[in-house]
Amino acid sequence: MNRLKLSVTALLLLSLLQLKGQVIERIDPPSWFTGMHDGALQLMVYGKDIGDWEVKTDYPGAEVKTLVRTDNPNYLFVNLNISSEALPGTVRLTFINGKKSMTHDYPLCERPSGPARGFNSSDVIYLLMPDRFANGDPSNDNVPGMTEQLNRSHPGGRHGGDLKGISDHLDYLHDLGVTGIWLNPFLENNQERYSYHGYSTTDFYRSDPRYGSNDEFKQLVSEAHKKGMKVVMDMIFNHIGSFHWWMKDLPSNDWIHQFEKFTRTNYRASTYMDPYAAGSDIMLMEKGWFDITMPDLNQSNPLVETYLIQTSLWWIAYSDLDGIRMDTYPYPEPEMMARWAKRVEEEFPGFFIVGEVWYDSPSQISYWALNKKNSDGYRSYLPSVTDFPVCFATHRAFEGNDNPTEGLSKLYDVLSQDFLYPEPLRNVIFLDNHDMTRYYTQTGTSLEAYKLGLSFIMTTRGIPQIYYGTEIVMEGDKSSGDGYLREEFPGGWADHEKNVVAGKNLTGTEKEALDFTRNILNWRKQKEVIHTGRMKHYIPQDGIYVFFRYNDDESVMVILNTNAKESRTVRKEKYIESMAGFTRGVDVITGQAIEDLTSFKIKPQTAMIIELK
Ligand code: CA
Repeated sequence: MNRLKLSVTALLLLSLLQLKGQVIERIDPPSWFTGMHDGALQLMVYGKDIGDWEVKTDYPGAEVKTLVRTDNPNYLFVNLNISSEALPGTVRLTFINGKKSMTHDYPLCERPSGPARGFNSSDVIYLLMPDRFANGDPSNDNVPGMTEQLNRSHPGGRHGGDLKGISDHLDYLHDLGVTGIWLNPFLENNQERYSYHGYSTTDFYRSDPRYGSNDEFKQLVSEAHKKGMKVVMDMIFNHIGSFHWWMKDLPSNDWIHQFEKFTRTNYRASTYMDPYAAGSDIMLMEKGWFDITMPDLNQSNPLVETYLIQTSLWWIAYSDLDGIRMDTYPYPEPEMMARWAKRVEEEFPGFFIVGEVWYDSPSQISYWALNKKNSDGYRSYLPSVTDFPVCFATHRAFEGNDNPTEGLSKLYDVLSQDFLYPEPLRNVIFLDNHDMTRYYTQTGTSLEAYKLGLSFIMTTRGIPQIYYGTEIVMEGDKSSGDGYLREEFPGGWADHEKNVVAGKNLTGTEKEALDFTRNILNWRKQKEVIHTGRMKHYIPQDGIYVFFRYNDDESVMVILNTNAKESRTVRKEKYIESMAGFTRGVDVITGQAIEDLTSFKIKPQTAMIIELK
């Protein structure tokens, strides 16, 4: 359709909708899909006094079931049923108020066919922040209507990165060996300041124009698929941004949790599973606001629940998405979140969701794990959880201390609690993320610690996630402020002197880290034994931790020596139950053959990943 035709259509639509000042300002979701497992669709219609109107349609297969009105007359919720016979097309909705009537054409599209691609432990996910990764299109750095302007000199300002910048890097990421990308949120965050991180949604159905259009996101997913990669979208159901369009005219009084004065959550997500928790503490956990600029949604309102669930279904079907990372998973109402995860699975079997559950202990994380039988009866349908205990344990194990066995023992202890998870292979494992001191900084900028950590995370059980810039050991200290954890990826901006993709001006350390990362990720890609093999580990001793990944065809031995200065001798005899029948090996990291496994040396501060022969 050309521009002229478009504007004529727009004018025509506008004249249809404007009737003596009556305007439908928006309908959410903006479109829907045929062939859904559950044909129920609830439209949120917004417009002055729209609550006074009735709605009907004679579109074949579409039926208006009920209308729901709230204490705000400017909203009308239309419950439709789209039957399995309905075909894609334009559903004409007729709004009637006495003798007045107006129409709205609502698009019904075809949903993607075939099963969801999902994610599993054969994947490596690359987490990146859209504002900070690469500026592929400087023309969208400032966009009319968006309050906050570009300010690259400010660590908490907008830097201009966008979807085009990510698209431009797909070949680089593919060569690096990652199989999927997780974008920090890219939906509109039209906040006055500090909007670049994306966790203050102001429109659930619109990509922030400073990143690009919805259609550009859809194209990004499609291009990633062509290269054999997948995409995870970051979503937030707990809260919205204080400049969300709802905040000017709330759909109902109980749409958000409101208090006499600003009331913050206690951030104690453990209250949900604590058998002794006080009701007031649980209340504050769920209903308190995450921040003054983040109003807390009331997921106990069924209209809010439906709205949120539909946004996720819409983005999956619209963009052919592969996964969702749900922010602050334990903060919203837990039963609602379980219903959401279940509904996504029903609509898109095999679809991947990882919930951000930030706790120190495996017992707390496992409460939210798939198929976990909790004594209080809570059942989460969440396919995957973020494994923070393993993350923290890697820091303690590899950051270097006087007793090299101590940290390794803690790591061993954390993994020994895997009996708590019905399927530990589903856990997303990581060394750091956008909210934490970067791993390299955490370990005192030690390249050896970097290699130990990465070798571990790429060979233990789970779905590894790495944070952008990790591959060139970018630094960032949480105590300096979050902006410093999210610096521009070198080469992502035209004025950068350093360029990772071009290999320009990288230091020796950065090059070494990049080669190391690329080598290990690409090796891992092909190794089924690492993806799904069983695991056996040995109690750490003398600063050495040894584990095996094995299946009927293969066995891989991983040795981590955290001694600062001492080499260690590895004797087959000690690990004979895992090494019987194997005589030789090849170290994946160095490519060197080990001709005799009876006894061999490992250097200090070194990882060996040995394919046993
Ligand atoms: Ca840009």
